[in-house]
Parts: sequence; C-alpha cells; structure tokens
Amino acid sequence: MNLVNAPSTRRAFVLNGTLVLAATSAASLPLYAASAEDDLYVGLVTDLHYADKPAGGSRHYRETLRKLEEAALQFERQQPAFVVELGDLIDAADSVDTEKKYLRAINQPFSAICDSRHYVLGNHCVDTLKKEEFLEGVGQEKSYYSFDHGDYHFVILDSCFRSDGVAYERKNFKWTDANIPAAELEWLAADLAATKKHVVVFAHQRLDVNNHHGVRNNAQVRKVLETSGNVKAVFQGHSHQNDLNEINGIHYCTLVAMVEGSGAENNGYSLLRLATDGTIRLTGFRNQLDRDFR
Ligand SMILES: [Zn+2]
Repeated sequence: MNLVNAPSTRRAFVLNGTLVLAATSAASLPLYAASAEDDLYVGLVTDLHYADKPAGGSRHYRETLRKLEEAALQFERQQPAFVVELGDLIDAADSVDTEKKYLRAINQPFSAICDSRHYVLGNHCVDTLKKEEFLEGVGQEKSYYSFDHGDYHFVILDSCFRSDGVAYERKNFKWTDANIPAAELEWLAADLAATKKHVVVFAHQRLDVNNHHGVRNNAQVRKVLETSGNVKAVFQGHSHQNDLNEINGIHYCTLVAMVEGSGAENNGYSLLRLATDGTIRLTGFRNQLDRDFR
C-alpha cells in the first residue's frame, strides 16, 4: 500500500438525524495509490448492521454511518467500477416502517459512493423486511444474478433460504439454517458453464466452513464452483472476522465487519484490484487484512 498526500476534506453527513460536518484529515487515513491502467477496481463493504439504536456488545450500529463516510472518501480516490455490499446492511428494527427508515439512512450515503452497486442479501437484511422490500429499498431487481465487467464474470449469491426451500423473511428462520436451494444451484451451474472469463463470487453466509456461519449445503455449492474451472475467489461476510481458506484451488476470503468495535480505528473495508491475467489483490483498510490471489 502506498501513502499519498492529499488535502484534508470536509464532508457533511447525517448521524442520528443530526447534520454533522466532519473534518477528515487525509493524514489520518491509510491512503491507496492507483496503479496499472487496465486493472479493474471494486469497492467492498460488509456487515454494516446500520440501525439507530444503542450499541449491543461489540456492535456499534450507529457508528457505521461515520465508518462508511471514511470508506467513501477512500473509494473516491480510486473510482471503482462498482461497489459490492456483502450483506447485513441493516440490523433488526422493531417495526417494518422503522427498518425501512434504517435502510434509507444507510443506503443514501452508500448510493452516493458509486452509480453501480450490488447488494448481497444478509440474514439481518430480511430479519424484519421481506426480500422484495429490501430489494425495492436499494433499487435492485434480483437477489441472485451475474454480470460481466472486462475480463471478469461476477456472481451475486443469495443463501437466505431455509433448508425446506422457504425464503427468509420477518423472523421466519433460524440464522444457522442458510441454504442455496436447488433452483439457484441449477441456475449457478448453467451460468458458470456459459462463461470463459475469470469468475469472482460474492456471498454473505460462508461457503468454506461447516459451523454455524456456513451455508448448510455449501459442499454442493463448492462442487458447482469447482466444476466451472474458472472461479478464482469467493468474497463473503457474516462471521465478522478476517479469514481465508483455499479449497480445491478456490480462495474463500471472509471480510471483517464494519459494525464491530467503536471508533475509526475499528473500521474495515477493502478495495479489490483485478488484473486481466486473473491476479487479484485485496487492499484492506483499518481492520481488514490485505490478500493476494494468483
Ligand atoms: Zn453480520
């Protein structure tokens, strides 16, 4: 990571309904400098859990507004082609109306970062809302889909389904019962078979572990990813801590949660740099570790 000098920036944002003017000294930020022209840049954030409610344990729900502000400043320098939010954008509210307010409050600054955005559904996104309500709130049509950019094919997965195939919504599920149902798996296999590009997958619940944080049928999902032969890496959230596993040539990289811990030093977000030869570099900020995949 290179350090560059930049003037301090003054930005306005709304915190708890109050307009805050934040003077952010660039000297206090770990800044990232640009490199190869053909490389594709993607901004990543996960587990923001935004809610206008007091902290619960290590989760500082209100602070994600300020933390996202720093990520926005960082992304602004690199101008990523798109940004991906890897799930749990919001935390639970006591009513649908309040939850929709939380969603608007966090999605407004997130939307300002980049015109091109992708949202992975997290279990907390549909704890109070229905999937269609969340998707409508962020202006996204589908919960799982794929798209191409340059030499890469990107897949957004939705693991918010119970083992009986019923979609998560309004507390009708146990958070440990995450599954990718047969119809989505069939779609995934056909989608991957139709591309020759390097593939990067975005998921919320983990595809690499068998504990409570893992998608229950993730062995089946991994088999589909491995059969494609083109999948380079899977980026995921959900367990809130840095982790990395390589299984049969695919890197499963778990990103740190933005909501964990108080203060700017406990932020976490990252910038992905994808080279045309399939080399992937993740530059992590604050608590997010750097990663290199070849
Ligand atoms: Zn979470």
